Amino acid sequence: MALKDLFTKTQTKKKKYATIPTEAAKQDVPEGIMTKCPSCKKIMYTKELMKNEKVCLHCQYHFPMNSGERITSFLDEGSFEEFNENMISKNPLDFPDYLEKLEKDRQKTKLNEAVVTGLGAVGGHKVVVAIMDATFRMGSMGSVVGEKITLAIEKADELSVPFIIFTASGGARMQEGAISLMQMAKTSVALKKFSNRGGLIISIMTHPTTGGVSASFASLGDYNFAEPQSLIGFAGRRVIEQSIREKLPEDFQTAEFLLKHGQLDAIISRLELAEKIANILEIHQPGGEITW
Ligand SMILES: [Zn+2]
Repeated sequence: MALKDLFTKTQTKKKKYATIPTEAAKQDVPEGIMTKCPSCKKIMYTKELMKNEKVCLHCQYHFPMNSGERITSFLDEGSFEEFNENMISKNPLDFPDYLEKLEKDRQKTKLNEAVVTGLGAVGGHKVVVAIMDATFRMGSMGSVVGEKITLAIEKADELSVPFIIFTASGGARMQEGAISLMQMAKTSVALKKFSNRGGLIISIMTHPTTGGVSASFASLGDYNFAEPQSLIGFAGRRVIEQSIREKLPEDFQTAEFLLKHGQLDAIISRLELAEKIANILEIHQPGGEITW
């Protein structure tokens, strides 16, 4: 049987699985004027929620942000200049329907890939940022995501400015197979070179940061931060429970659990993020001091 037939067969089989309702479908309040918090179930004005950086006014639940919202929320106004915005993926494995799926996501998100990179400023400090976007192919990492992140790290090196990455990803991109997995090594090497030359790396993990992304650049910052309640992990809970034949703690793979076990340096609310990161950038300047 040809490899292509195998893929087609797998895809046909997939249709038998039950559909899991999405977060949006679970909310019984229509999107628009009001928004219901999936955590505390309280309803609030969407306008007020947006004004509060998409953080629930009642329970501080952090609603997912796309890359555009992140740029507005985190960077100094008007400071962002995008790199390599037109780079798009090919179909290296000739995976059925991959190009069509990419095209659909491009139209849906108005993005060309699952990461946006560029130069910006935080509290007046110049930085290179890479912002993953979970609305594009679940933020999965294929060849273009790896390449854009690598080029961004090299640009930070060239400009001698810190590199900040926001991660939100389902992991490696299935449709690019081993080429996706190789991005883990590629981005890690670029970070190591940057670090050896004195570069500052700040990783901010957001919900969800999983698979090959959590196992590479997301965890390689000089500072590894996360937003509250983010799911961060490599393999899924069920897979781990089945392999170790043990029940995992309830809060396993949450940012709070990882902080308790030393894998994170801090959990920072989105409402304070820009200010705290600006302070960190400040202390890495000659004569800088920490104020929090
Ligand atoms: Zn809430």
